Amino acid sequence: MSKLKNKVAVITGGNSGIGFGIAEAFKNEGAIGTITGRNQDTLDQSVKELGTDFIGIKGDVTKMEELEQIFKDTFNRFGKIDTVVVNAGGIVDGSPMAAITDVTEDNYDQYMNLNLKSAYFTVQKALPYLNDGASIILIGSSAAHRAAPGMTIYGAAKAAVISLAKGLSLDLLERKIRVNTLSPGSIDTPVFGKIVPQEKVEQVKQVWKDLIPVGRMGLPSDIGKAAVFLAADDSSFIVGTEILSDGGMTNIS
Ligand code: NDP
Repeated sequence: MSKLKNKVAVITGGNSGIGFGIAEAFKNEGAIGTITGRNQDTLDQSVKELGTDFIGIKGDVTKMEELEQIFKDTFNRFGKIDTVVVNAGGIVDGSPMAAITDVTEDNYDQYMNLNLKSAYFTVQKALPYLNDGASIILIGSSAAHRAAPGMTIYGAAKAAVISLAKGLSLDLLERKIRVNTLSPGSIDTPVFGKIVPQEKVEQVKQVWKDLIPVGRMGLPSDIGKAAVFLAADDSSFIVGTEILSDGGMTNIS
């Protein structure tokens, strides 16, 4: 039986990588709903691939009024919202992660805004439209647990996201809304092209493959399957916690 039959989902950043993998997994389990992003072309292309049960809404998750509009439009179109996946985040456009000596105050704020502030306010703006009993999934990162050079601010923001899930799940207990974090390890998405020059992408991926205990990088579909579990009733007793999907990477020293 389909685990998410007729459930309405909003997946921020569903026009690329992990977000699109989650949207595909949700669709395969019978969900309908909205994917978001700022790039209209990739949004249109992703909606085309998902089919008629999904719509695309353009919006910047760091802008409050655009966030609010995403949930308003989704509710007006589908009449309810059962699940929100707070996935948009990662690398700030034109501002790669940097060592402490190179980080400006603006750079710091942009990373925190995109990866932490937007997560909190995505939940806040969704609330008026969410069903009681809804499931909210915050996309964290194994970087919250495993430090890497130049990734300090990003890792700290994602560590705070894990804390958000704990606190929000208590805040929202009265409405039986569950909030959990799903933290990917190294997943094969377009993000690598934003971190290193295109000609080095395959080399970097090979380094990850060699490091990850299961011997491969993760796929967006790996995160999609875990997100289906957290969105579905199967996980109804899982509240305010974190699931790591990282091929065992976080546990090796
Ligand atoms: P991608 O770069 O493929 O996707 C990032 C998504 O976020 C895109 O859909 C992008 O859409 C959207 N986005 C970025 N900035 C904004 C913004 N200001 N407003 C709205 N949407 C925005 O990366 P991934 O799929 O790899 O990353 C997805 C999530 O997974 C991120 O939160 C990332 O931190 C996390 N993650 C990824 C890992 C990996 O190895 N890939 C590991 C651990 C965590 P658009 O550009 O159209 O706005």
